Amino acid sequence: MGLNLHCHLEGCVRPATAADIAREHGLPEPAGGWEAALRMREPADLTVFLAHVAAAYPVMGFAGSLRRIARESVEDAAATGDAFLEIRFGPATHRRPDLSIDAIIVAVRDGLAEGSAATGLPTGLVVCLLRHSDPDTNLEVARAAAAHAGNGVVGLDVAGDELLWPANEAYVEPYRIAAAAGLGLTAHAAEASGAGAAREAAEWLGATRIGHGTHVADDPEVLAWAVDHDLTFEVCATSNVYTGAARSLREHPVHAFLAAGAGVVLGNDNPITIDRSLADEEGDLVASGGLLPDQLDGIDRRAVAVGFMDEGVRSALRVRFG
Ligand SMILES: [Zn+2]
Repeated sequence: MGLNLHCHLEGCVRPATAADIAREHGLPEPAGGWEAALRMREPADLTVFLAHVAAAYPVMGFAGSLRRIARESVEDAAATGDAFLEIRFGPATHRRPDLSIDAIIVAVRDGLAEGSAATGLPTGLVVCLLRHSDPDTNLEVARAAAAHAGNGVVGLDVAGDELLWPANEAYVEPYRIAAAAGLGLTAHAAEASGAGAAREAAEWLGATRIGHGTHVADDPEVLAWAVDHDLTFEVCATSNVYTGAARSLREHPVHAFLAAGAGVVLGNDNPITIDRSLADEEGDLVASGGLLPDQLDGIDRRAVAVGFMDEGVRSALRVRFG
């Protein structure tokens, strides 16, 4: 139904597709099979969550596989009613001696375009720097993303372990390159680090959207600053429950964000990992999370305003969502 502005390709690999790709390339099946490797059965912690996401990495080191996984991510989102889909991923994870960062981005970009053409679902690709990558790799990723700006790539993000690699100044130059190319800027921040990391991402990197930002809800001063500066929080509530970052949908920081007047948009983060479509996410937030339907309408309108989409797509979505 709504706009999905936070969805990782690595969490979109269908178990059956992983099995196909593994067979094709002679990769071993995980103990317990692909279904158990890729999906969580119940909430746990971030370590367990990330292990399920990382289980897909071995099948993502091939251009043809990336293209298929990207196409299928669009098919799955279209089948469950998404109106717009931003897919993000970290190309450096999938680099191989015979597969360059640029070729990886092109494969995913082309897969998304195929999915869009087949389903009519408009999409955009957000390229992620990774906190554990070395500076040269992050610069290479930013330059490759910038080279495809306006041609499928719509934004830059930084993802990865904030506790081990908290220094946001390391990403100033890659974000400058992306901004100069006209890419939208978002950043995972204040998910594991404290609230101040979200302010750093905005002030130092130019991010206008913050992935998760859960800890900003703990700090009224930074939350007020975020409202004043019109930041948007990309909320993936079920994912936060599965990682243990939130106790429940009802106790999720999204309520503090909305009460403070902060901008909120939604995503499902890793749909295969947590077995949730965006429509599930929206339905659960209203049915068990205490979100009011008119708050959901406001979230959709915000997503139309801040999505990294071309103006033709934005105009069409504005007609639909008001
Ligand atoms: Zn994320």
